[in-house]
Amino acid sequence: MNDVPSGPRRVVLATGNAGKVRELAACLADLGCEVLPQSRFGVPEAEETGLSFVENAILKARNAAAHTGLPAIADDSGIEVDALDGAPGIYSARFAGPGADDAANNARLLAELAGVPPARRSARYRCVLVYLRHARDPMPLICAGTWEGTVLSAARGSGGFGYDPLFQPADCTVTAAELALADKNRLSHRGRALAALHAALAAGAR
Ligand code: IMP
Repeated sequence: MNDVPSGPRRVVLATGNAGKVRELAACLADLGCEVLPQSRFGVPEAEETGLSFVENAILKARNAAAHTGLPAIADDSGIEVDALDGAPGIYSARFAGPGADDAANNARLLAELAGVPPARRSARYRCVLVYLRHARDPMPLICAGTWEGTVLSAARGSGGFGYDPLFQPADCTVTAAELALADKNRLSHRGRALAALHAALAAGAR
């Protein structure tokens, strides 16, 4: 463990997604972290060649740390559907093919689950967040969050993104796309992984 630096600690986030940068910056602000998107440094996208959320998050964080010389955070996430043996999982963003949009991915998910009764449509979102102190960090900090639910047979709601219109969280009567953003952020896999990362860094993990 290193000493806590006195000035703001600059950390690069391995995404260009402005929403993710805002969410992470807000979460870590009280720890004296300044979160900067990798796009600020012209970091090229890492290839997600891993076979797990953890491997892909590490590949992305390592790439960002290597190109910037800064500590780096990356996330990887997706939806795991039990009736599909865990698919689409790490391939969630490209379930309907390379460059597929949300509508195409949702259509593929509905097609794959055609005829599967509600009781067998259990699923969960997973999010893994990785923090690397430097590109060769041999001990990445890994924080995970899950969000259990069910895949519906028709889309509902216009909020969120990705599979949210088809995903009804357990104990909810609405889909993730019908939840207020603040509620989704509090309950979701990403919210839980962020809370775990905050707790680990606040407890001195460096
Ligand atoms: P990424 O980790 O941002 O690349 O996300 C992977 C993919 O998983 C997304 O493109 C979505 O298809 C899906 N996904 C991850 N998190 C969510 C979520 O909160 N709602 C809906 N879809 C999600």
